[in-house]
Amino acid sequence: MEKSIFTRIMEKEIPARVEYEDEQVIVIHDIAPKAPVHLLIIPRKPIATLMDVQEEDLPLIGHIHVVAQKLANKLGLKGFRLINNCGKEGGQEVFHIHYHFLAGFQEEK
Ligand code: AMP
Repeated sequence: MEKSIFTRIMEKEIPARVEYEDEQVIVIHDIAPKAPVHLLIIPRKPIATLMDVQEEDLPLIGHIHVVAQKLANKLGLKGFRLINNCGKEGGQEVFHIHYHFLAGFQEEK
């Protein structure tokens, strides 16, 4: 399988603004932000889509949620959206699983 753009970022072939990283994931700033805070939580394991997640990947999927909590605490956010676009029909453009972490929307009155 051809290396995804995200694998190339992890291997430092392509630059990115890294917000957080550990042994399982890297978190970068989206190059075309759709919200004041728009991060991408990307597992190092190059799973193509959510439909390809296996039973053995469930700890990794759980870890992504813990990383989202860490990001919220680090950035002092009270709330956020965590979005996965799955498949072409779901709006997915990069076929290396990732979760959009969006925050900084105007507070509702
Ligand atoms: P998706 O449509 O869910 O596959 O989202 C892919 C996201 O990756 C889009 O929001 C793009 O703006 C973002 N993206 C693509 N290339 C880069 C890059 N080199 N650095 C940071 N974000 C990127």
